[in-house]
Amino acid sequence: MENGSLHGLACEDCGFQGLPPEFACPACGSEKLKEVQYSGQGEIYTYTIVSMGFGHLARRTPYVLAVVELKEGPRLTTVIEGLAGEGARIGLPVRYSHKEEGTGPIFVAA
Ligand SMILES: [Zn+2]
Repeated sequence: MENGSLHGLACEDCGFQGLPPEFACPACGSEKLKEVQYSGQGEIYTYTIVSMGFGHLARRTPYVLAVVELKEGPRLTTVIEGLAGEGARIGLPVRYSHKEEGTGPIFVAA
């Protein structure tokens, strides 16, 4: 398990920002992507409650799977930890917690 800060990629040609893995800019096709560091703060853009998981996610159910819109703009799909299903709502402020091997970034309510 790797903790630390949340990183993304920014296109040096057009400024598009996204989360890895991106090998070329989806907006303009440039391969000049540089790593950027995010504040890790954002809000829930949309979410779903997952009650049946697969593989290593099965033991986590039920959990909140959300698309989080970062303050810096990019959106990423992430698991929100520590929220009962009823606690999740669109627009809820969340922050990056840690990265989990095989799952990706984990967020918690801010
Ligand atoms: Zn670009």
